[in-house]
Amino acid sequence: MDTLPGYHRIASGIEQARFLVAKNFPVDFDPDATLADLWGVHSDAMHELQRSEKSKRPEERSLLDLKNVIAARMLEDCNFCDRRCGANRMMRQVGYCRIDAISRYSSEFLHYGEESELVPSHTIFFSGCVFSCVYCQNWEISTNPGRGVPILPEEVARTISLRHSLGARNLNFVTPTPHLHTILRILAETTTNTPVVWNSNMYHSEEAAKLLSGVVDVYLGDFKYGNDSCAKRYSDVDHYWETVTRNFLCAYDDSEILLRQLVLPGHIECCTAPIIEWVREQIPNVRFNLMFQYRPAYLAHRHPEINRTLTEGERLRASELLGS
Ligand code: SF4
Repeated sequence: MDTLPGYHRIASGIEQARFLVAKNFPVDFDPDATLADLWGVHSDAMHELQRSEKSKRPEERSLLDLKNVIAARMLEDCNFCDRRCGANRMMRQVGYCRIDAISRYSSEFLHYGEESELVPSHTIFFSGCVFSCVYCQNWEISTNPGRGVPILPEEVARTISLRHSLGARNLNFVTPTPHLHTILRILAETTTNTPVVWNSNMYHSEEAAKLLSGVVDVYLGDFKYGNDSCAKRYSDVDHYWETVTRNFLCAYDDSEILLRQLVLPGHIECCTAPIIEWVREQIPNVRFNLMFQYRPAYLAHRHPEINRTLTEGERLRASELLGS
């Protein structure tokens, strides 16, 4: 089966990345309008986008401009993720993720360790996270939102062009959710035709999903837990199943998905099995990567049941469930 056909067409230059289409799609709006009015214009524009091909004149505003204005407003009462803290990050208030309005990245490079379709991938690792996974492999980055290089969108856009010329097949935003406003600004500055990969835990809000619609080419989504209680215990997150399944359904309607399931020791029947079943029924034929590389890290030692690697029996059982 040809996985991610749309992605391949963009990566090979046959089609335009969706953010470039949004950038060229004219939308008439008043940036000072109420947020409710801006959402109304956005909804109409997204419907129109599906029906017509239009090109904006230089003096006109675009759909991507509109998404940028809405994201900046959302930052004043942050609901980028489903924690919905309501922090005014523009005024340097912070919510659960402890990230203010300034986004930082800890590294950006050509990554050769992602799935074969993606490499080499221009990966931008953002600082901070909206989850608190006790086994986080990148905990030095995810738990230190103040560390890293403050992002200047124009500068990042130049780097994107450079990495593309060096062979990058895509632009891969890692831990992107609390940085949605910055990512949309980066894309507004970017002219390089490259597929956009949203590499996330899929815990964004419904509003964030609307802004991502028509922009993201591949949702590279982690599906970690098959129930809310495991999600709470290991990532300190509420209503996990409802949020993540909602977002996968939305992503399935909007674009293409590469789904990752990191198999946790002792969590085959409670997590891996229900995830595989749900995916099979609700979003069939997505590219599914069952991952066996779990290693206990960070605070995993506080949870003896996951303070080990997988057994051969667990690998076999998970593979059998997936039918691979
Ligand atoms: S991104 Fe999520 S965790 Fe961070 S302030 Fe916004 S709603 Fe809260």
